[in-house]
Amino acid sequence: MASRISRTLVAMVATAGATLGVTLANPSPASAAMTICYNTSQAPSYASIANQAATIWNNATSNLTLTANCGTNLRIYQITGGGSYAVRTSLGNGRVYIDTQQAAQYSPLRIMTHEIGHILGLPDNYNGNCAILMSGGSAGTSCTNPYPSSAEASRVTSLFAGTRSATERGTDSGSTVFRDSWPAALAPVS
Ligand SMILES: [Zn+2]
Repeated sequence: MASRISRTLVAMVATAGATLGVTLANPSPASAAMTICYNTSQAPSYASIANQAATIWNNATSNLTLTANCGTNLRIYQITGGGSYAVRTSLGNGRVYIDTQQAAQYSPLRIMTHEIGHILGLPDNYNGNCAILMSGGSAGTSCTNPYPSSAEASRVTSLFAGTRSATERGTDSGSTVFRDSWPAALAPVS
């Protein structure tokens, strides 16, 4: 009886040891979240919208943390007329311009998450599908979906799977401008 108990104990200890061994040998991957600091000092009317957009991107991706006003990887501006657009200076760095007139026609949150999507590496995809964030204004003014599709989110996660910080990426040369994502709605006939 005693020896059976001790054999059982030995087996339990061995099992526990094996479990520990697996845990120690394969620690869960350290959080590799990359911080992208965005600054809304030049877009006072859209600071709250920017925060919501940041939360959407943070939740949709596994390795990004967009954080308000901790630095200037991404500067957000509000402008009047000319159209909302984004200038990506490098992956995770650049400027977003929100046209207040456009934001009165289209969902300002969808515009914000879309334009930030450009900074995060996504191109436009004007297919008219409201479920696609990068379809922008092609989905019409009635489309208010501010969420990237799973494919769009996965693409961003994979683009940021490298090890360089956004600030380091900021030293990369070349910039890309993304304009005309939000076609002007027809003016009402008077
Ligand atoms: Zn766009």
